[in-house]
Amino acid sequence: MAVGRFTKEDDSLNARCERSNEIDEDATSKGQESMKLKGRIAIVTGAGQGIGRGIAEAFAEQGADVVINDLVDDARTKDVQDAIEARGRRAIVVPGDVSKRPDVENLFDEAWNQLGPADILVNNAGIETIVPFTELTDEQWEVVTNTNLKSEWMCAQSFCKRLIAEGRKGAIVNIGSIQAARVLPGRTHYAPSKLAVEALTRNISAEVGSHGIRVNCIHPGLIDTPMIRWVLESPDILPHVVAQISLGRPGLPCEVGAAAAFLASDEAAYITGQSLYVDGGWVGK
Ligand code: NAP
Repeated sequence: MAVGRFTKEDDSLNARCERSNEIDEDATSKGQESMKLKGRIAIVTGAGQGIGRGIAEAFAEQGADVVINDLVDDARTKDVQDAIEARGRRAIVVPGDVSKRPDVENLFDEAWNQLGPADILVNNAGIETIVPFTELTDEQWEVVTNTNLKSEWMCAQSFCKRLIAEGRKGAIVNIGSIQAARVLPGRTHYAPSKLAVEALTRNISAEVGSHGIRVNCIHPGLIDTPMIRWVLESPDILPHVVAQISLGRPGLPCEVGAAAAFLASDEAAYITGQSLYVDGGWVGK
């Protein structure tokens, strides 16, 4: 993995993440009582790779069954499904484009029909493009904002309507970005879509809190995924970015997964409407 290049300490961090993704036989037999998400059903969008996969696996490690959404059902989603089932949890793949209302409704219908009523939604699916402000087209704006923002609104709405109708509690974790607080060039569409996720989180949390539904947001920093591999592989750009991060390294999908598992769990029972930077100390530096 790309982060292994930095220091010996980073190698051990990498190994720790990889170890946490190995099947822990003790946990599957003895440690179940301490699992944060035991018996829960979670839906994770864009879970075929990257941060979504890290969250899906972290949730399975903590006892949750997982609905894996991504654009297509392919070898990547099958791999994630296998990794979850190997932990003794149930997993299904429901492909679909979460920026499209019919696909969103189908995702929740299939989740409810195949696994049962879900307790947790993670709105993770997102895309980033880089286009100078004066060249950005209406279509480019719409594709990014529909995928990163409208999708989170639609999925949250569909999820909450079902929970409220059934009188069930739940938790939503929305994925934003460090770019809610940091300017990077060519992101006049991406950055607003991610800052808006913070306001979406706060406003939904205020409307559904009385129904026992908590809504929080994670703003990831530089996380080692296919989306930003071009940064990790650029000797010109990478040192400048890493120099802005207090911990001096990119993060790992499992580290975002650990934060998401906490926010989705009862350990965070009194936390709602919040945005948490999981960025190794980038925004605060
Ligand atoms: P990634 O490696 O590109 O993975 C995102 C996944 O979402 C891909 O499998 C992608 O499918 C899928 N997806 C894209 N559009 C979708 C849609 N409309 N419906 C369903 N699935 C869709 O990205 P990532 O780095 O894991 O990022 C995950 C989230 O974290 C995104 O919201 C991103 O903006 C945010 N984030 C990432 C970083 C970072 O450093 N990696 C930093 C801040 C925020 P395809 O591969 O088929 O397109």
